[in-house]
Amino acid sequence: MEIAIIGGGLSALSAAMEISTNATNPVKIHIYEKKSQLGGRIMGINSAKIGKVDFGQHLISGAYHNTFSYLKKVQPNFSIKDLVEQKLHFIRDNKVFPFKNPHFIFPINLILGLISNKYFTFSEKLKLLEQINYLKKNKYSQKSISELLILDETKFKNLNNFWKKLLLSVFNTGIENIEENQLHYVIKNIFSSSSGNSRFYLPKSTLAKLFVHPFLEKSKQFGIEIFLKNKINRISFLENDKVEIAVNNGNTITYDYVISTIQPNEIEQLLHPKINFPNKWKGNSIITINFKLKKILLKNGMFAISDSFIDWLFIDKLRATIVISNSEGLQHLNNNDLIGIIFQEINKKCNSFSMENVVNFDVLKIKKATMLSENLIINLQEIIPFPYNRLLFAGDWTILQIPQTIESAILSGKIVSERIIKIQQNLKR
Ligand SMILES: Cc1cc2nc3c(=O)[nH]c(=O)nc-3n(C[C@H](O)[C@H](O)[C@H](O)COP(=O)(O)OP(=O)(O)OC[C@H]3O[C@@H](n4cnc5c(N)ncnc54)[C@H](O)[C@@H]3O)c2cc1C
Repeated sequence: MEIAIIGGGLSALSAAMEISTNATNPVKIHIYEKKSQLGGRIMGINSAKIGKVDFGQHLISGAYHNTFSYLKKVQPNFSIKDLVEQKLHFIRDNKVFPFKNPHFIFPINLILGLISNKYFTFSEKLKLLEQINYLKKNKYSQKSISELLILDETKFKNLNNFWKKLLLSVFNTGIENIEENQLHYVIKNIFSSSSGNSRFYLPKSTLAKLFVHPFLEKSKQFGIEIFLKNKINRISFLENDKVEIAVNNGNTITYDYVISTIQPNEIEQLLHPKINFPNKWKGNSIITINFKLKKILLKNGMFAISDSFIDWLFIDKLRATIVISNSEGLQHLNNNDLIGIIFQEINKKCNSFSMENVVNFDVLKIKKATMLSENLIINLQEIIPFPYNRLLFAGDWTILQIPQTIESAILSGKIVSERIIKIQQNLKR
């Protein structure tokens, strides 16, 4: 079997690795990536002012079980200790409130954490326990969760703030766009039986070093061929049950199956003959600003900024990162105006963070960090008609129940590989 994978992000790497390790018969895999490096949205960039940084700040949750299993596959010695745990804090009116996550099983870890917490009032703590218990047990519909979570602002202000920040960072969109069943998935996974699931991590160096470099080593062993700077312009479905792809260098190559891992709005334009998909998509934006600091301002960890358009501040000694999710309204500003507004705001919330304490900074505006469906989301793989059925989809957007993350990208690669293996088994019979 010969397969082309279009795109070289995490879903592609996961698909290639899963097929190579689990296929019953040999599979020839070619990966086509339009950029000069693999990694897609987790790629590293070389900032002249800051040094090596990731394309965007990426948190890894302790509940990312498929991600950890990918990492073990490409790097058998991998352990969670290879990541840096991020201690969670909230900042309000220049005060820092730590959230402890003791090493006990749920719900003891949560209860102990809440007892020592000074950010929530007593009634908010009780309400949070009640909410989590309720959300963990009940499976919901496609209704949005804003009504479910947003409570009396005077009584539960901090609790509302907690949910808004947490969900914005997980889903990268406002709570009016998050469905109840997606929230159920997150709560069930983060607050499940092990306290490890509710921990957060960052890579020790870059995401590329963690996810891509070990893949490159393994890919040699499996004979996976990688074509960088190869943009696919067209995917055609031939009468002999083959799929032909056209590359921007003029080459056309035929395969038995093509796995597309590119973002959903881009695929439609590549297909020949043309097809209109029912889902319409729009981009969710993120702004990330990386700083080099003159002195240590706060201890290491992640800090949610209460009552602010700035969502998170990450500190790693003399490195700091500010993240603004769902940043649609700020994307049009030029970098000078943007940084002016941000310094004013962060200085108000955290006095020590001022221009004088910064050596340098770099702004990253990402318009399509994740994609949001504007209408009803339908699983394209389920409805794709002949002759397109030799086109398989992977990518963070293809698993409808869970947020678009590293975990959903890696899981999508695993799911598409299972389809390929099933096809192989059917061919054998
Ligand atoms: C700023 C930012 C912050 C984020 N924060 C987090 C976080 O904290 N935690 C988390 O879990 N997730 C986070 N994410 C999401 C995470 O990065 C993505 O969900 C994941 O990387 C998606 O992987 P993918 O393989 O599905 O898609 P992609 O990484 O987008 O891969 C698609 C690849 O296809 C290539 N391509 C496109 N068109 C073509 C073509 N015609 N021919 C050839 N190649 C093509 C692209 O160049 C790209 O490399 C964040 C994303 C961003 C942008």
